[in-house]
Amino acid sequence: MDETRYEAVIGLEVHAELKTASKIFCSCRTDFGAPPNTQCCPVCMGLPGALPTLNRRAMELAILAGLALDGEIAEKMRFDRKQYAYPDLPKAYQISQDKYPLCRNGRLRIRTEEGEREIRILRLHVEEDAGKLIHTEAGTLVDHNRSGIGLIEIVSAPELHTPEEVSAYLRALRGVLQAVGASDCRMQEGSMRCDVNLSLRKRGEDTLGVRTEIKNLNSFSFAEKAVRYEIERQTALLLAGERIESETRRYNEATGRTDLMRRKESSEDYRFLPEVNLPVLHLLPEELDRLRKTLPELPQEREARMSKTYGISPNDAAFLAADPELSAYFEAAAKQTSYPVRLCNLLLCELLRHCPSDPFSSPVRAERFAELTELLGEGSINGTTAKTLLARMLHEDLSPRLCAEEEGLLQIRDPKALTEMAEAVLRENARAVRDYRSGKTAALRALQGRLMAKSGGRADPVLGERLLLSLLSASPSEE
Ligand SMILES: [Zn+2]
Repeated sequence: MDETRYEAVIGLEVHAELKTASKIFCSCRTDFGAPPNTQCCPVCMGLPGALPTLNRRAMELAILAGLALDGEIAEKMRFDRKQYAYPDLPKAYQISQDKYPLCRNGRLRIRTEEGEREIRILRLHVEEDAGKLIHTEAGTLVDHNRSGIGLIEIVSAPELHTPEEVSAYLRALRGVLQAVGASDCRMQEGSMRCDVNLSLRKRGEDTLGVRTEIKNLNSFSFAEKAVRYEIERQTALLLAGERIESETRRYNEATGRTDLMRRKESSEDYRFLPEVNLPVLHLLPEELDRLRKTLPELPQEREARMSKTYGISPNDAAFLAADPELSAYFEAAAKQTSYPVRLCNLLLCELLRHCPSDPFSSPVRAERFAELTELLGEGSINGTTAKTLLARMLHEDLSPRLCAEEEGLLQIRDPKALTEMAEAVLRENARAVRDYRSGKTAALRALQGRLMAKSGGRADPVLGERLLLSLLSASPSEE
């Protein structure tokens, strides 16, 4: 099969819940996890005669998101009714922005192994969320706590091509929305969800193939897996000479495949109408300026600053900067150690595997983690001991320095003591020594392992290797 003949063309529609205390058109609360139907009223349940009132803070947050994505903010905004009938939408229309969205022409920079790219954002608009259907054996129930929570929908241009780019885009977007406080983007709680539009085209050609839509992906890893699967599925169909059908699909977490939800016979007609119960909004330039001045440091700026201040690689800085909690933790620890690069490596390669990520939180206090890095950086402990100590620090709030001192875990760096150990290792492993001297240099590895074992894992590995090499190159006749 020649999979490389095709290239995927992918556009994303991301919905993020606005981080307001109350809903967008009524004063009901937005707390996650409240008992079903305890946070709703006639307005958000769409009862006849109930009138919406716009939440000012929701619009401010959406504008901040648009500014942070470098978009053009509309001076005039209007809400429209998007009409469709579904059990989670009692009004039978959703209040959204069709013709006059809040923002157009933004951009988002992403970074993958392949390098940096800028993805265009076609539009960002405000709308209300629908309720949630809960399917039980007795029947389907509706929870209206989510009905009427403010959302922003962010539509990218179809400029992504790989699963890695999809995941990088989502992470970068989450970073921006979190930085300005527009949304907490907790994917597990459904406050950020993503629809994927994907088609294939022959490499080097402009004509797009028939596209499919994958609905409601709620984690970065599912999005990446769904895209990978869908590219394989469409590629196999095309190579077999079959047609791609225009359809909506759903990712199945259990099988790792996308399943058909429904065929798209024709494009959906939502019969948009202006929402007459809400006024047309005019955004004053001074109001926009006021909001612009409140923009905090954005991930891209944070990344540049962190890379410069701490000397960490641009890729690592980008990874840290995209997550406000993670970068705050790194910076709190980095201020307390002279080895920020080691700190970054230890954080990304070791600690992160043991931390919840959505949002990030660490079981190890920043100052303790800095102390561990300091021990490693100054050579008091080696990498193996650092891992051992870290494993314990995940469960108890201990000082790694005190612990290493009391339990004799400090690295052996005394040349005399190490030379004695190295000599013993050579005596006890005559065969490996002969192998090494006859040109099988790989035998050095075995001797290093023996030295490490003999020292109880505490030998300074660099000094140990140097001593072994110098003993091995000394006159063999002494044996
Ligand atoms: Zn309400």
